[in-house]
Amino acid sequence: MRTLTVLGSTGSIGTNTLDVVRRNRHLYEVYALAAGQNVDALLPQVLEFRPKVVALATSDGLNRLSNRLTAAGLPRTEWPELLWGDAARVQVATASEIDTVISAIVGVAGLEATYEAIRHGKRVGLANKEVLVSGGRLVMEAVREFGAELVPVDSEHNGAHQCLRAGNRAEVARLILTASGGPFRNTPKEALASVTPRQALNHPTWRMGNRITIDSATLMNKGFEVIEACWLFDFAPSQVDVVIHPQSTVHAMIEYSDGSVLAQISATDMRMPIQYALTYPGRSEAPVPRIDWTEARKWEFLPPDFDKFPLLKLAYQCQEAGGSATCTLNAADEVAVEAFLQGTIGFTSIYEIVSETLAKMPMRNPGTIGGILEVDRESRMLARDLVTARVAGPVTV
Ligand code: NDP
Repeated sequence: MRTLTVLGSTGSIGTNTLDVVRRNRHLYEVYALAAGQNVDALLPQVLEFRPKVVALATSDGLNRLSNRLTAAGLPRTEWPELLWGDAARVQVATASEIDTVISAIVGVAGLEATYEAIRHGKRVGLANKEVLVSGGRLVMEAVREFGAELVPVDSEHNGAHQCLRAGNRAEVARLILTASGGPFRNTPKEALASVTPRQALNHPTWRMGNRITIDSATLMNKGFEVIEACWLFDFAPSQVDVVIHPQSTVHAMIEYSDGSVLAQISATDMRMPIQYALTYPGRSEAPVPRIDWTEARKWEFLPPDFDKFPLLKLAYQCQEAGGSATCTLNAADEVAVEAFLQGTIGFTSIYEIVSETLAKMPMRNPGTIGGILEVDRESRMLARDLVTARVAGPVTV
């Protein structure tokens, strides 16, 4: 029996995780749920999974959940312990009662709790890629030092993890990550400046949270995945290739030194990698459709257009640069994506804000989580100023 804390339980990965638990009650129990603000989604999870502890981002969220639990008629004696704030996330991720954490908060809000879970030797199923994009060096040092099991949930890395089990790491030549290409794969470059948030949120193959969906449309998400892969599997950026595969069925490929390529293939359903992270090194029946090999099908593999999607190239450059560059990349992108979703800046301005922030932000080498969060905070401020300046336009006197 695995005992879980789910960080980000109300999100896309979080709800998929709870569906895996729901179907395997004999294998998994939920000790704690951590969420941000969405009490509407959290309440039914609390009533169904009866966690011992619930951690919310704010005291306001905690009050709203208390009111909803009262209204739902749950006797006080059956309430979970209710916590809020940054320390609460760390507390539920490191509790002695659990052995496993699913890290599925979006953004750096999940960094410290995930890092501490690793330092406490928990198995961590990692979806929250910003953890490695922002703090890869520190996090991987902790994995090695504390012997924690970090099992990727991101489907491409999960696929790579599976392919890597087939051979010796020393015989691996390179990793090939697939990308759907997003909703603008066939949109001419000149038309991208005027695409709307609604169009960008219409991902062709995956249903995910807003941030990652926009990042998929700019290919920033694939850039983050390149960085994530470098840290997880100890690759140089030049050993990680990206190939556009619109069918999103081959998730990753590993090329061995003799040129032989192994691919991981499965339906586009996140419950598959989530379950793998829980059952590894074993496997069990998963609630996802099988591929019907009697059906004729066409799978395409195309090179990415770095010119049309410059954020992908920027990710390679930031990983090569090292230091705090990838932390700034993530922070600036989050601000720019938010501004795009609010209609404040256009789609192509996401790249402009991110690259300008990188150019202006001094390079650091933070050696602590606090140091990383400080770089993150400063990068966000800089990116916000750039957004504001852009909206205000040039001042004429
Ligand atoms: P969602 O936006 O759907 O969910 C994000 C989750 O994070 C929500 O539960 C949200 O809570 C929670 N959250 C946000 N801020 C805080 C905070 N300060 N404290 C506690 N919880 C917080 O995102 P996804 O599930 O799509 O993605 C989660 C992560 O997994 C991302 O890093 C993404 O890149 C990665 N990922 C996602 C995939 C997918 O298919 N969705 C695939 C591969 C990776 P609330 O809603 O209650 O505010």
